[in-house]
Amino acid sequence: MARLTPAQLDGIACIVCADEDGTMIPVGTVDGCQVFAHRPCVDKPAHAGTVLVVGNTSTADALADLTAFACDVADRLRFPVVVAVGRDYRPEDYEGVVLADGWEKSYDSAVLGCTATLADVCTMWANEAYEHPVNTVCGHCGEDDPEAAPVRVEDGWTTSVCPGCVGAAGRLVLPGVLVAV
Ligand SMILES: [Zn+2]
Ligand SMILES: [Zn+2]
Repeated sequence: MARLTPAQLDGIACIVCADEDGTMIPVGTVDGCQVFAHRPCVDKPAHAGTVLVVGNTSTADALADLTAFACDVADRLRFPVVVAVGRDYRPEDYEGVVLADGWEKSYDSAVLGCTATLADVCTMWANEAYEHPVNTVCGHCGEDDPEAAPVRVEDGWTTSVCPGCVGAAGRLVLPGVLVAV
């Protein structure tokens, strides 16, 4: 860590961004002085930049529907998405949560959806996601291509990629394309 300013050592300024405004939490002591930081400055969500899609996954058909819906979400919101299967996710670790129609019908997704709406995380309904236009800009080459579409990855979808770049996206090593983590 760089040398702290007197304001940071006095606990007046955030030790991460050096800003003096806003609510801060104690994050430890340096040279015997208690130091503070803004909560968002210290807890960057583990999956920042990825959206969690929550919905009914209790049957194979429901999971297929949810996975198809998640593709639309990745396309329209321009974020890679992860499809929540089971309950073992922390909504606050994600950029946001989208609740698919029927999310309240399975136990796991209902619990996860309620946790998300209570947590301090951006939560969106399916119809709100559909208010965003389809993304036709390739996340890799940046070209506008009407055929650009998300690519299926292990547990979700990437942002839209044009057909010419899809081969590389399949290998998940595509610079510039946000791949779900
Ligand atoms: Zn800060
Ligand atoms: Zn491309």
